[in-house]
Amino acid sequence: MELISQHNHTNFTGHGQGSVAEVVESARKKGMSNIAITEHYPLSQAVDPTNYISMPWDRLDEYCRDVKEQQQRYNDIEILLGCELDYLGDCEDRNITPADFEQFDVVLGSVHFEDGWAFDRSAEAGHWDEVGPDFIWNRYFELWCEAALSPLPYTTMSHPDLPKKFNRYPQCDLLPYYRAAAEAAREGGRMIEVNTSGLTYACKELYPAPAMLREFFKAGVPCAIGTDAHEPCHVDRYLAEGYRHMYEAGYREVTVIVPGGDRRTVTLE
Ligand SMILES: [Zn+2]
Ligand SMILES: [Zn+2]
Repeated sequence: MELISQHNHTNFTGHGQGSVAEVVESARKKGMSNIAITEHYPLSQAVDPTNYISMPWDRLDEYCRDVKEQQQRYNDIEILLGCELDYLGDCEDRNITPADFEQFDVVLGSVHFEDGWAFDRSAEAGHWDEVGPDFIWNRYFELWCEAALSPLPYTTMSHPDLPKKFNRYPQCDLLPYYRAAAEAAREGGRMIEVNTSGLTYACKELYPAPAMLREFFKAGVPCAIGTDAHEPCHVDRYLAEGYRHMYEAGYREVTVIVPGGDRRTVTLE
């Protein structure tokens, strides 16, 4: 079956490795048919002063140029210009409008921040003990649903149950959250993704959990796939597991964005 990853990073931030060309080269060597380069869209100086998390504003044009150059170079692989755009809620301090994203084939919607705190960064994990998992999970889903229904032009909502990264769960039943998220994604017209990077963290589970993915399937939300690679060699990591995960949740096809933003589907084998 086709090897596809609609979520990949580069060295345009301080925490990723490999140039755009190196990521594309790795994908071609592995025989992949479709790859989206989805670098973290710039954050404000106040939120990310060293550009460890996101790419610098003054390199945004260079980033887009690099991806377009790769698109023009090859016709044996679909290459998408994308970005991963944080939803910051009331803490949004950038001057962004939906029109800023027209040039992108795919815009990933992510909640990595809760009221200014990057809850998924190990460097700041101490905060988990201060506020507790119940608060963090609850606030996460409030923001996630808000993001899915917001005017921001998110194509796909990324790693839908990201708070499980450190394997810390709330006391309460997660199913109501899963249902609310599925309803928000459906109503907002978003896709969701199976993100295989979850297998590499303490939770040792693909994003989203099987029970959550089933709710997305039941709600009729289309499902994409991405490895969330931060190194060129990881572009195809755990794709077979990701496809199996989708199949077991009920999906029979993976939805794939193509250059230009149209969609096609690939049957899960
Ligand atoms: Zn992310
Ligand atoms: Zn990512």
